[in-house]
Amino acid sequence: MSFEYAPAPESRAIVDIKSSYGLFINGAFSEATDGKPFKSVSPSSEEVLAEISEAGPADVDRAVKAARKAYDKVWSTMPGRDRAKYLYRIARIIQERSRELAVLESLDNGKPIRESRDVDLPLVAAHFFYYAGWADKLGYAGFGSDPKPIGVAGQVIPWNFPLLMLAWKIAPALACGNTVVLKPAETTPLTALAFAEICQQADLPPGVVNIITGAGDTGRALVEHEGVGKVAFTGSTEVGRAIAKAVAGSNKRVTLELGGKAANVIFEDAPVDQAVEGIINGIFFNQGHVCCAGSRLLVQESVYDEVLARLKRRMSTLRVGDPLDKNTDVGAINSAMQLAKIRELSQIGEDEGAERWSPACELPEHGYWFPPTIFTGVSQAHRIAREEIFGPVLSVLTFRTPAEAVEKANNTPFGLSAGVWTEKGSRILWMANQLRAGVVWANTFNRFDPASPFGGYKESGYGREGGRHGLEAYLAH
Ligand code: NDP
Repeated sequence: MSFEYAPAPESRAIVDIKSSYGLFINGAFSEATDGKPFKSVSPSSEEVLAEISEAGPADVDRAVKAARKAYDKVWSTMPGRDRAKYLYRIARIIQERSRELAVLESLDNGKPIRESRDVDLPLVAAHFFYYAGWADKLGYAGFGSDPKPIGVAGQVIPWNFPLLMLAWKIAPALACGNTVVLKPAETTPLTALAFAEICQQADLPPGVVNIITGAGDTGRALVEHEGVGKVAFTGSTEVGRAIAKAVAGSNKRVTLELGGKAANVIFEDAPVDQAVEGIINGIFFNQGHVCCAGSRLLVQESVYDEVLARLKRRMSTLRVGDPLDKNTDVGAINSAMQLAKIRELSQIGEDEGAERWSPACELPEHGYWFPPTIFTGVSQAHRIAREEIFGPVLSVLTFRTPAEAVEKANNTPFGLSAGVWTEKGSRILWMANQLRAGVVWANTFNRFDPASPFGGYKESGYGREGGRHGLEAYLAH
């Protein structure tokens, strides 16, 4: 039996969205000189939230020059303990304003408030606290006794974890003494612009952080700008490849965090209820808009029927709807474009012969929605088993032996993450050694910590973010 829930809406009165935003360059908002404005839309209602400026090449140039000046004059020469004070101040302001930022994130991105409030925002603050702690201890990080910053970092981030990806990029860059120009994704610029206001509130010296909004062209102009010494990108493998080509031959340092098609492997001795929670969290967290999502489920044949039955039962209890309702488990798909891509790949799954199943659920009339979906009867050759769908869609495959599980899990051009569910510690260690993935979770999934490095192999990109490893990309050692 399932209970009826009364609505439990989080109030949006706490956020104050301006009707339009300029570019944050050299510590102040200014109008774009040569771009056309665009609109940021709430994916759950299609309501226009604000008008956003598009940074053209002249604006990108202005931002990079402001960052360079701040680097030369203030930030690179400031003692680490003083940089740390700014980072701690930013972390505390984020904590103080976390409710407001969570509501803003859910409005602009479509993710459930429960996730932005309990996952994104605590991790955002934790990243700033963590890297603040490194700022005066860089000589002990293992990269030489007096490691130096690189210069201006050009950072381009996607729309799935807008503020968290910003924190992953900005916190280590500033801790190491670099200045930054960051471009948020076109569909989710609002929390990055709120972060610009937080930089003002924290009295961060002008030019240390610059936020420029725009689409792919703005991102391209930024990463190709000759004043940028370090490029950090998170997004699709296709754009990652284009960036790698564009900067080849220059002396820019690059880290790329790209797509994934993670295997979540369930052995017959796994605690089934826990594993089912892990499967749900692995693919339906953040509507499946997660590069490390457990989008390929590999279940040992002997427990397949039981796992599938319990998985379907659990999926029937997922609540899809208003991201600002505190009971919501699955929110809106981030954009019409992403929804079209999920629909197309799901249709291809059916056309290729896999069997599609979703629980009965009523989707809201406006906005972009897709029900939690699983495909069974999937073979490794199917496109839904090979390509990143980046939505709430799970492909289910089976295996008989551990060796077969490893072979199937590694049979992908990606290598970002994987999950293993078993009661045997020795099997966990054996699997972790065999799996070609940057992160291997054991009896859990999608767990993050600022002290833990994250990154991929093969087409999932290169370089590590997070932890002590994450400092390396921002130091010229
Ligand atoms: P993109 O890789 O296009 O976007 C990521 C960021 O890069 C955005 O800020 C984007 O701007 C910017 N960008 C786009 N083109 C360029 C360029 N040539 N040079 C520099 N920056 C650029 O991802 P999409 O949003 O288009 O999503 C497409 C697919 O990518 C998704 O369906 C999903 O499968 C995958 N994806 C994977 C992510 C991951 O973390 N693994 C994250 C996001 C997407 P703008 O927003 O304006 O396009």
